[in-house]
Amino acid sequence: MTLLVPLEPSTSSAPGPSFLRHSKSPDTDLEAVVKAIIKAKRIVVICGAGISVQAGIPAFRSPEGLFKSVKGDNLVSGKDLFDASVFTSEHSTSLFCQMIAQLSELSKAAEPTTFHRLLRTLDDSGKLLRVYTQNIDSIERKCGLSFGIPAFKDRYKGKYRLNSKLSSAQILPRCVPLHGTLELVHCQLCNHSFPLEDHLPSLTQGLPPQCPECTMSDQCRELAGKRSRGVGRLRPSVVLYNEVHRDGEDVGEIIREDSTGSSTGKGRSVADLLLVVGTSLRVLGTKRMVREFAKAVHGRRPSSCPSPADPSAIKTVYLNLEFPVPARDWNGVFDVWLRGDAQEFAVLLDQEIRRRQCLTQRKRRAKEGSSYDEQSQAREKECQVSLSRLSILRTCLQRNCIFAYQLVTRRNFVKEIHSQ
Ligand SMILES: [Zn+2]
Repeated sequence: MTLLVPLEPSTSSAPGPSFLRHSKSPDTDLEAVVKAIIKAKRIVVICGAGISVQAGIPAFRSPEGLFKSVKGDNLVSGKDLFDASVFTSEHSTSLFCQMIAQLSELSKAAEPTTFHRLLRTLDDSGKLLRVYTQNIDSIERKCGLSFGIPAFKDRYKGKYRLNSKLSSAQILPRCVPLHGTLELVHCQLCNHSFPLEDHLPSLTQGLPPQCPECTMSDQCRELAGKRSRGVGRLRPSVVLYNEVHRDGEDVGEIIREDSTGSSTGKGRSVADLLLVVGTSLRVLGTKRMVREFAKAVHGRRPSSCPSPADPSAIKTVYLNLEFPVPARDWNGVFDVWLRGDAQEFAVLLDQEIRRRQCLTQRKRRAKEGSSYDEQSQAREKECQVSLSRLSILRTCLQRNCIFAYQLVTRRNFVKEIHSQ
C-alpha cells in the first residue's frame, strides 16, 4: 500500500493503481513524512533530472529545448542521443558531441537548486548517508557534497573491501554519480581520461577529439620504427543506454555497503530511509537499485507496524509529479508518494529542519541557564522569522501560489516579511 499525499490540491481525478491510497488528511500525513525524514539517521537519496530542471538543465526526455535544436531527422528523441548506437555513424556522433558541449556549458553556469541545498543541509546535520544521482551535471559537488566513485578494486588489489582503519563514511564520497559526469572524456582505444573542458572547442564543432595519449604513443612508435597502433577518439565519460558502466562494479559495491552493510560487519552504517526524487525510474539499473534499498529499509522496520501516518512506519518516500510506469512494478515499494514538485518540498523540509535546530538551541540555552546576550536575541529573532516563513510557505503551497518560489532564500524572505 502506498499513501498518496499531494503537495498541492489537484484537479486530477485519475484513479491510479489499486495499491494507492489517497490521503484523507494531507496536512497531517505531510507532517508525518517530514518528521520521518528528520528523525532518520542515514538517509539515502536517489535523484534524477527533476531536481536540476530549475537550475536550467533540460530534462532528459524533454521534447523542447536543447535536444530539439540538435537532433537530426533520423533521431526522434533526446533518448536516441544517449544510446550507445550514437557512435555508429559520423552524423549522430557529431550531434552527440555538440549536445554534450551545450550541456557542459549549461552545467557550468548552473547554480544549485533549493533541493540541492537541502541535500547539503541534511549532510551538515549528519543525516545523509548517500546521494545517488542519475544527473551528469555535477551540481551536487557545487553545493559542497563530496563527489565521485572510489576505485575499490585498484586500491585494494582486486578485493572489494574498505580499509579497516577507516569507516566507509571517511572513504566514500557523499554523492555517487550513477551515469558519469560532463567533467571528463576518455579514449575509446586506450581508456585514458582527460578533462572535458580542454576539448570543449572540438566538441562544440561536433568533432570527437583525437586522444593525446594515443598520439604521443604513436609518435614514439614511429620514431622507434614500429608500426602504428592507431589513435583513439575521445568520448564524454557519461553512461549511455545499452552500454556497460565503466565503474559499475565500484558503484555496486557502494550500494551493497549502504543497503546491507559491509561483509565484515565493521562500521556498519546502512540506510534507514530511502527518498527517491525527480526521476521517472525508467532506467533498469536504477529500478533494481531502488527495489534493493526499499527491501533493505523495510526489513529494518519495527515488527509491530504502526499506522501509516506514524513517522516510524515511513521508510520509503517517492517525490515526483507523476507515479512511475508501469505502476504495478512499484506495488509495495514506496510507503508514501508525495505528488508534487521537488523544490517545493525542499523549501518545507529545509524550514522545518532549521526551525527544529533553533528550538534545540533555545532549549539548550534554557538548560544552561545562560543569559541572553545580543547574539542570542538575534538568533531568537531569526527563529521566529523561520516559523513565520514556514507557515506562509505552506499557505502558498496550499493555494498553489507560484510566488512560493520567490521566497526561497533567507534574505529574500526577510525582505518580503519586512515589506509587508
Ligand atoms: Zn587513447
